[in-house]
Amino acid sequence: MKQKIAIVTGITGQDGAYLAQLLLHENHKVIGLTRGNHNDNQNGLSYLGIKEKVTLINCDLLDISQIIKLIQQHKPTHIYNLAAQSSVSLSFQQPIGTFQFNTISVFNLLEAIKIVDPDIRFYQASSSEMYGKVNDLPITESSILHPLSPYAISKVAAHFTCIHYRESYKLHISCGILFNHESYLRQNTFFVKKVIQESIKISKGQLDVLKVGNIDIKRDFGYAPKYTEAMYLILQQEIPSDYLICSGQTISLREIIHYIFDKLNIPHNLYQIDDQLYRPAEIENIYGNNAKAKKELGWVYDLDVLQTLDLLLEEELKNHA
Ligand code: NAP
Repeated sequence: MKQKIAIVTGITGQDGAYLAQLLLHENHKVIGLTRGNHNDNQNGLSYLGIKEKVTLINCDLLDISQIIKLIQQHKPTHIYNLAAQSSVSLSFQQPIGTFQFNTISVFNLLEAIKIVDPDIRFYQASSSEMYGKVNDLPITESSILHPLSPYAISKVAAHFTCIHYRESYKLHISCGILFNHESYLRQNTFFVKKVIQESIKISKGQLDVLKVGNIDIKRDFGYAPKYTEAMYLILQQEIPSDYLICSGQTISLREIIHYIFDKLNIPHNLYQIDDQLYRPAEIENIYGNNAKAKKELGWVYDLDVLQTLDLLLEEELKNHA
């Protein structure tokens, strides 16, 4: 059987590390792309004990000639595109850089595939943030897109770039439209990771209070290692398509804080609302319907949000110095 060779962009991120682990388990050769001046940031791969098993290559995804050379040299069968400026908050401060990287990198990758090897299967990391101003819940694959942040706008543009190349050039391109997913490897600035990490510090007397923004909004979130299984399954399908990957449940950010505080016996008066942390625009409530992914991919997901919080808290406590 032909050796499967997967290129994973954004391999130094949360999803990149878990996906690489899964692909190695499925006997793929894994080539992880990193950006030049950030190539020491491979903590996720080290944490999972797989750093030595993946081939790491610096590649500027804004330079199509580098991507073309890379594809010609390494002959990938699959490309999973996870690299992005992934923070909604940061995108309000850096709208142009976010839009530029998150869109041009996708154009470059798809154009390179079209030129060098149109048989390569391509996965794009799309986001539930694309739905933004929600009218009807739950969100399905056919819900209307109305992005509410520069990040979400960039993801909509990248998403439609993928659809355009799939429809116009018959490339095997699929988008996973993922709702928030968390793990120990999540960046510290993201809400659930920050709440858990800082709550542990409060419980150990290392921090006085937890400062948060708007916590009356509700989110559908799940466990990242299970969500990367869906990414893999998506590229195993003969016919490319787009899939919502979500838990189907929603919880307010305030409930998340209360749950974690109660687990750690922290009084509820030890969090503070900080107006500086409010965003210019915010999705009020969002949750999705994962029926298509479960039916067509055979994706199994049965964790509820509180079980996910338990897993995250347990792993964070284990690793807390
Ligand atoms: P993450 O932890 O923030 O990782 C992002 C990755 O992209 C990192 O490897 C980062 O490299 C790389 N990257 C960022 N800017 C770059 C640039 N200018 N040039 C090259 N590489 C760059 O994100 P994640 O949580 O794993 O998410 C993976 C993908 O899924 C992203 O596209 C994200 O937008 C999307 N997504 C995530 C979620 C979620 O809840 N996690 C939900 C929906 C969609 P460095 O390590 O060098 O910074």
